[in-house]
Amino acid sequence: MSTIGWIGLGNMGRPMTANLVKAGHTVNGFDLVAIAVEEAAKHGVNPVKSAAEAVAGADIVFTMLPKGEHARAVYLEADGVLAHADTKTLLVDSSTIDFDSARALHAEAADAGFRFVDGPVSGGVTGAEAGTLTFMLGGSDEDVAEAKTFIEPMAGNMFHAGGSAAGQAAKIVNNMMLSISLQGVVEGAVLADRFGLDPKAFYDIATVSSGDSWPLRTWYPVPGVTETAASNNSFKPGFATALMHKDVGLALAGAQTQGLDLPAAKLVHAQLQKLVDEGLEGLDTSALIKNIDARAPG
Ligand code: NAD
Repeated sequence: MSTIGWIGLGNMGRPMTANLVKAGHTVNGFDLVAIAVEEAAKHGVNPVKSAAEAVAGADIVFTMLPKGEHARAVYLEADGVLAHADTKTLLVDSSTIDFDSARALHAEAADAGFRFVDGPVSGGVTGAEAGTLTFMLGGSDEDVAEAKTFIEPMAGNMFHAGGSAAGQAAKIVNNMMLSISLQGVVEGAVLADRFGLDPKAFYDIATVSSGDSWPLRTWYPVPGVTETAASNNSFKPGFATALMHKDVGLALAGAQTQGLDLPAAKLVHAQLQKLVDEGLEGLDTSALIKNIDARAPG
């Protein structure tokens, strides 16, 4: 079994590392937030106090951080991964970050003699807990093949999307589509309620009809309908509004560089911005229902 360095033990990192531990790996985990490290340690992660300690002696290092700026800091700063890891160690960034940062990390890692894979995920905290995440991998054939051997206990699907930053490109587009579907689901859930439909009865119909979608089945924004929804739990994330706001922003910024206008993505971004402006960015993304229905619980 292998030694894995892990940096970023938040909502996703914690369950992902738990699955690596269950698979028999030694996982040396670091997070800036002490309580995140303590929680991970309860699931068998070996707690360490710095990125340098996390990468020491590792066969592979994973990072699971909020944004591009965090990933750049963790890899590139003096106390970071490139300065302290052995160049034999394969590096995998599973955070969802902007396309430019992902390309920059590939380039900086290569310049420093490292092999680097971008490997963002889809499937949320439920997929992370179940070990069924979809990984979208960008890098060389050899590096991606090696990364897959470690990723397997965390994944339901692993795709080699292409070369440098191709995983991030796939992820950004996927999340933009998810947010647009979710906006449809929250509007539908409120209208169904106003029409007097029982939410569970409507859910049962829609999930086997042409209105079906992943956010409908998994994130239904009304409590008591589907087990996996954050609406059951006062919109505790799950997938925080702040992160979806970030991801749709990444898609819009990328679209702008391609001269594309994406009206539905712009609309959802404005709806997410409204939640952020109201200080609700820590709630699950399905709290988008609050923009439509002031009576939405939670
Ligand atoms: P999170 O905010 O819960 O966790 C990120 C962790 O990184 C935090 O614990 C934070 O303290 C830590 N961190 C930040 N800077 C650090 C540094 N310099 N050194 C060490 N630790 C540092 O976020 P999350 O929900 O786990 O998401 C992580 C990434 O995965 C994001 O890019 C997100 O977009 C993506 N993602 C999240 C979900 C989801 O459902 N939560 C789903 C798919 C992808």
